[in-house]
Amino acid sequence: MAVLDIVTYPDPRLREATFDVKDINAEVRQLVRDLIDTMYSLSAAGIAAIQVGRLERIFIIDGKVADPAAGDDAKPLVFINPELAETGHGLTIAEEGCLSFPNVFVDIKRPRWAKMRALDVEGNSFEVDGEGLFGRAIQHEHDHLTGRLMIDLVGMVKKEVIKRKMKRWHNEHDGKPPAPKPTVPQI
Ligand SMILES: [Zn+2]
Repeated sequence: MAVLDIVTYPDPRLREATFDVKDINAEVRQLVRDLIDTMYSLSAAGIAAIQVGRLERIFIIDGKVADPAAGDDAKPLVFINPELAETGHGLTIAEEGCLSFPNVFVDIKRPRWAKMRALDVEGNSFEVDGEGLFGRAIQHEHDHLTGRLMIDLVGMVKKEVIKRKMKRWHNEHDGKPPAPKPTVPQI
């Protein structure tokens, strides 16, 4: 089991260009396992590879987010080379957290529903869609793979508040990972 360090804002690595996985080899499978370990260790709803400084287009969503009825038996969902196929059903605002913005929770407006296509860790293509936290989480993680962050989706005043909070967090924590079990799932 490997828990990887989280890259936190304003680290420029969160803005780097990502690339498609060409071959789901042993190294990629190891990265997927490490991402899953890291996500669970931080009680996060999801995690993108770029949040641990890796540029492969991969993200993970906690299976409980995808299927709340399955509870702890739910397997994590692995998205490799994901494509946001469609969004719709109007817009909705909800509070979001992000591992790369520890202790920052902000209202973000997004399409209510989203459909994502991707490859699983066996290389099979699949399609999922959803609303609620799942629909929001897949959009949030997909944003990470395009270098887009929560702070890009809020107004000027809120941006400054987030920047100040992150400056304070870095002063206090100096790179330690975010505390687990936040009040709102971090993704
Ligand atoms: Zn995030």
